[in-house]
Amino acid sequence: MMDPTLEIWLRVGFAGAVFALMAAWELLAPRRTLSIGRLWRWPSNIGIVVVDALLVRLLVPTAAVGASLYAAGHGIGLLHWLDLRLSIAAVLGFFVLDFVIYAQHYAFHHIAWLWRLHRMHHADLDIDVTTGLRFHPIEILISLGIKIAIIIAFGIPPVAVIVFEVVLNATSQFNHSNVAMPTWLDRILRLIVVTPDMHRVHHSIVRAETDSNFGFNLPWWDRLFRTYRRQPQAGHSGMTIGLPIFRDRGELRLDRLLTQPFRGDKDRF
Ligand SMILES: [Zn+2]
Ligand SMILES: [Zn+2]
Repeated sequence: MMDPTLEIWLRVGFAGAVFALMAAWELLAPRRTLSIGRLWRWPSNIGIVVVDALLVRLLVPTAAVGASLYAAGHGIGLLHWLDLRLSIAAVLGFFVLDFVIYAQHYAFHHIAWLWRLHRMHHADLDIDVTTGLRFHPIEILISLGIKIAIIIAFGIPPVAVIVFEVVLNATSQFNHSNVAMPTWLDRILRLIVVTPDMHRVHHSIVRAETDSNFGFNLPWWDRLFRTYRRQPQAGHSGMTIGLPIFRDRGELRLDRLLTQPFRGDKDRF
């Protein structure tokens, strides 16, 4: 197995490269005119990435891979019991993890206290590459717990866990980006991956649209479970991004992001 320090730096380096690529694409070919813009939002959105990284984010893949190594070493989990070839177990493991992320995202929208944590991701008043990294540390921690339980229950191989983490980070940055691409390209990409236009619908202020397109990687779960919505009703340029609450610019400050789960309406929004 790879040295964990090297593994962390490889992951950070790859995530940084994807970030630079998407940020440049956003500058060259933006999809929407940002209402607040980078200057006001990026320090907080990048600030939350640093807080997350220090608290949990760097732990996540390491702990997840650790759980996977434990399961492999002890022969625990469905995929080990089925005694499949590594390549088949890895592909199945990837699909299982992706489905769990979809189901978990659905749960974070429909269970009140989970929504309070996830709501912060949706309270961004614009959507761009940094929104894809803007999650509350407690949400990341809960997500880690669920992931470890699934990895052990299914005995998902370490290679699948590492590939999944790297791909999930890249696709999350990609599908939150404010980038324009030809309609035909979006249509083709949408067959295999969640595109920026597909995920942007999920950041609409309209609740029916917020509660659709839960996928992060593979676009198929939304179609399978009928949570798929092709486009926002107001169009990508006309739609309003964010939630009915937390619309004040001050809510984009780092300290406000961290306290949002503990403030605001008792109702869903
Ligand atoms: Zn969501
Ligand atoms: Zn999102």
